[in-house]
Amino acid sequence: MSEAVTANILDGRELAEEVRRGLAGRIAALADEGRPVRLDAVISGGNDAGSVYAASQARTCGQMGIEYRLHELPEDVTQQQLLNVVADLNDAKDVHAIMVHMPLPDGIDPDVVQSFIHPDKDVEGVNPANIGNVIYGRRSLLPCTALAVMTMIESTGVPIKGRMAVCVGASRIVGRPVAVLLMQAEATVVSTNVHTPDLASMTRQADIVVSAAGVPSLVTGDMIRPGAVVIDVGINRIKDPSTGKARTVGDVDLDTVSRVAAWASPVPGGVGPVTVAMLLRNTVEAAERSV
Ligand code: NAD
Repeated sequence: MSEAVTANILDGRELAEEVRRGLAGRIAALADEGRPVRLDAVISGGNDAGSVYAASQARTCGQMGIEYRLHELPEDVTQQQLLNVVADLNDAKDVHAIMVHMPLPDGIDPDVVQSFIHPDKDVEGVNPANIGNVIYGRRSLLPCTALAVMTMIESTGVPIKGRMAVCVGASRIVGRPVAVLLMQAEATVVSTNVHTPDLASMTRQADIVVSAAGVPSLVTGDMIRPGAVVIDVGINRIKDPSTGKARTVGDVDLDTVSRVAAWASPVPGGVGPVTVAMLLRNTVEAAERSV
């Protein structure tokens, strides 16, 4: 007989909806002041996944009353031409928020492009200046996935200050920014990576575990301290042995972890939808600060 499930499952879709509801009044207030919120996205030819994402963004922004403009560039665009488009958007007073869809065509350096987006309009938090500002305790726009992780932890009501947190994975876009934000919130933070020996001995001490490694079933119940908060950022496609069909799973084995943790986030339906909501929140914040 299976053991009773104890963890509260964090519903990312519900939390995302709550975030969107909280933004509606702020968007309306800006429109009333004659400053309608505007997000401009840049996409280069041959980026099919980006086009699907852009179409969904256009729909969501439309529903929220955010003006969305997509700048479509040809596949043979040069880096200089792309930078010129970003420069115009950086200068345009009525553009509050900029994002550049990845991947970029061969020969264009994403680091150069991302660093060129004005930090005050960088709603994906990809300009290094923005994460640098956190270290100096300054207000900044932060990477959306890291913000989503923090929002999910905060939604549990479990205090972060003084707690022990372990980040599994230390990438530039997720693991490291999450570690920095947890440090900023005054947790004691351990950042782990693929070379970390005996990961379980670290996670077993943690009040908060965030996994962003991209490894299915990396984090299991025996690695978790009773009552911990476990946030799963992983998005992995695996073949389900029972059906033979592909499905999406995270890094966390929710079956075993939910018997030990107090809070756990599922995949799908966890960090993903909240990440999308964070882009909208960053967009509104960029607009509010743009006076
Ligand atoms: P990445 O490949 O750039 O980095 C993975 C990190 O995990 C590295 O630091 C690596 O050293 C570490 N790692 C790998 N195996 C490990 C192990 N056994 N123990 C400890 N650390 C280990 O990946 P990424 O871009 O940070 O993405 C990580 C996961 O998060 C992927 O599954 C990705 O699809 C997902 N993701 C989700 C969102 C979202 O919004 N939900 C956004 C970005 C990425």
